[in-house]
Amino acid sequence: MSAQPRLAPKRARAKNPQAAIDSYLNDVAARNPGEPEFLQAVQEVAEHVVPFALTRPEYQSLKVLERLAEPDRLISFRVTWQDDHGVTHINRGYRVQNNNAIGPYKGGIRFHPSVNASILKFLAFEQTFKNSLTSLPMGGGKGGANFDPKGRSESEIMRFCQAFMSELFRHIGPDTDVPAGDIGVGGREVGYMYGQYKKLTNRFEGVLTGKGMAFGGSLIRPEATGYGVVYMMQNMLEHMGQEVAGKTCVVSGSGNVATYCVEKLNELGGKVVTLSDSSGFIYDPHGIDAEKLAWVMDLKNVRRGRISEYADAFDAEFHEGKRPWGVMCDLAFPCATQNEIDTKDAKQLVRNGVLAVSEGANMPSTPDATHIMMEGGIRLAPSKAANAGGVAVSGLEMSQNSLRYNWTRDEVDQKLRAIMADIHEHCVTYGEPKAKSVNYLKGANVAGFVKVADAMVAQGLV
Ligand code: NDP
Repeated sequence: MSAQPRLAPKRARAKNPQAAIDSYLNDVAARNPGEPEFLQAVQEVAEHVVPFALTRPEYQSLKVLERLAEPDRLISFRVTWQDDHGVTHINRGYRVQNNNAIGPYKGGIRFHPSVNASILKFLAFEQTFKNSLTSLPMGGGKGGANFDPKGRSESEIMRFCQAFMSELFRHIGPDTDVPAGDIGVGGREVGYMYGQYKKLTNRFEGVLTGKGMAFGGSLIRPEATGYGVVYMMQNMLEHMGQEVAGKTCVVSGSGNVATYCVEKLNELGGKVVTLSDSSGFIYDPHGIDAEKLAWVMDLKNVRRGRISEYADAFDAEFHEGKRPWGVMCDLAFPCATQNEIDTKDAKQLVRNGVLAVSEGANMPSTPDATHIMMEGGIRLAPSKAANAGGVAVSGLEMSQNSLRYNWTRDEVDQKLRAIMADIHEHCVTYGEPKAKSVNYLKGANVAGFVKVADAMVAQGLV
């Protein structure tokens, strides 16, 4: 008696996409309590990928989607280090190895006080789809620590990086897992971690990307994410018969991704009027030209100051504790952090008549904000497509390390442009090209999924 009613809903679920999505998300939620960012990332993908998977019986019988949402491995470890005053600190380090069906795990390392398992699982999950979209052989991973680099001296940063790598080194390798930078981890930190890896293993090999040029780095790697975000926008605009030149642009953040995004927008004739950090945003109606941008890069990378100082140095406004989405513009580029565009911001962007958004940060829009923007007619390139340029050039760095060879700046840039154009094409192919407006989110989700899923099926239940 009791088996009959339990079977009926199961059969119904198999045929009804929304029921299948709900069932999948409920299972993931039950297995991952207290991990809202991870659930949000899975939810964003499930909306498009679950209905697609229903059309392929092998994906269902081998539980490809379920396996994708369960990391291959989550390593958590203690990082102990001493500050300049001899005080001992303990942080928690992580590496999430999500999926290596199409290549070694690959993804950045984040140093930020907010880092926890949920945030890194969301990033590693996203990274799996993103890396697949680049067409390069890279699986998905992510790592980091709840360490706050703000206000730390050079030697404290070095000691922390060394302590972090003292455990991480045993879990990574050029054919196993190849980390890179992310929030709070740039060329300086990658250099210190590389030095420690080399010391511990006595091997000089391509185990990290984003390395300095003197020891195996690639030209264009620092610029790649920001440039790629703009190339994605360029491709979307061309598809609409438009161009970047003459457009007013709003950019958030003032770190690696934001600053190189501004550099490329300036080069293409766009006018960027905002930048931000966690204390607020600056509005410069005259535009952040090359000279002002060089000043910002020095402020952020050398003097390690706050964006508010820009308003004092130039004729600009500083809006404390605010985000820049209310500023009138044609194009928007969220390049700071996750969930920085909420529903209120999204409605404002729609009201302001914004044409398109290219997401530089990972998952910068909440799910509701994403829907509001897309339904409001904004073309939206989701982060897993728009910011894939960084990991793509990391993949090219790995190739150059294996070849023991360096490509020129032009060669790397040409490859980056080609990869971003391909990603745009994949999004159009899978993102309802016959509809009035391309659904880039659906396109990126499904295109990124297919390659990984097919590899998982081919490799059996491992
Ligand atoms: P950086 O550390 O260089 O810069 C981060 C910027 O975002 C800083 O301006 C920072 O301000 C700001 N920021 C961080 N947290 C918050 C917050 N909670 N609220 C407001 N602003 C905040 O990092 P990246 O530029 O490398 O990374 C930015 C985003 O791009 C991240 O989402 C990252 O995952 C993503 N990304 C980065 C890639 C890369 O190659 N670096 C590749 C793909 C994606 P403050 O200094 O005040 O903290």
